[in-house]
Amino acid sequence: MAEIRHDPVVVIGLGRFGSALALELVARGTEVLAIDRRPKVVQALAGRITQLATADATDPDVLRELGVGDFYRAVVAIGGDLESSILATSLLVELGVDDIWAKAVTHQHKRILERVGAHHIVLPEHDMGERVAHLVSGRMLDYIELEDGYALVKTHPPREIVGVPLGETKLRSKHGVTVVCVKPKGEEFTYATADTVLQYGDVILIAGPAAKAERFAERP
Ligand code: ADP
Repeated sequence: MAEIRHDPVVVIGLGRFGSALALELVARGTEVLAIDRRPKVVQALAGRITQLATADATDPDVLRELGVGDFYRAVVAIGGDLESSILATSLLVELGVDDIWAKAVTHQHKRILERVGAHHIVLPEHDMGERVAHLVSGRMLDYIELEDGYALVKTHPPREIVGVPLGETKLRSKHGVTVVCVKPKGEEFTYATADTVLQYGDVILIAGPAAKAERFAERP
């Protein structure tokens, strides 16, 4: 598959979260300038990230020298050191970075980062905990809640939609959900159509308002 090129991204803080993020961006064809103040952490990533710098991201001169203000997008992936997380984020705002993502470790930390001017905040531990709760409590194989309360659920088809063309199941009017894709056993995912007939072993992807999609996925 051809690589997709995206705007370059600055990643500040190369702990577990930041380094995984930076490496995944590079794997997806995005250029990354990654910064951490610990030389060991930076050395461990040598040759795997487009540009690496050992630097303190709370020093405005250093960020200017690195040209951070020319980037459209940056991620502050510092968790434990609140002072550094907040200062680095506010410097990115001052430098005019248009799209700032920041990692928070608590809801209070999140609120501060919002006030400082971060555009998107992620709470990885909290968000993942919530997501796993949806999975461990029932039949769902995967669950992604989109920000407007809409969800995508990966599951096996409930009994009532097995063996009938999807177009005849009245899924949308009865349950408020849509089967978007289907993966028959041993095959790849394909789009579901009104003529698709599901089998018990299939894996399906359902889209709909979160509560409805979840309720439907839990039906036997
Ligand atoms: P994780 O839980 O993802 O491992 P951490 O908060 O433990 O995240 O790691 C944050 C990383 O950010 C560490 O590697 C640390 O050296 C780096 N870091 C912290 N403060 C600064 C700073 N002021 N400038 C640059 N890097 C920093």
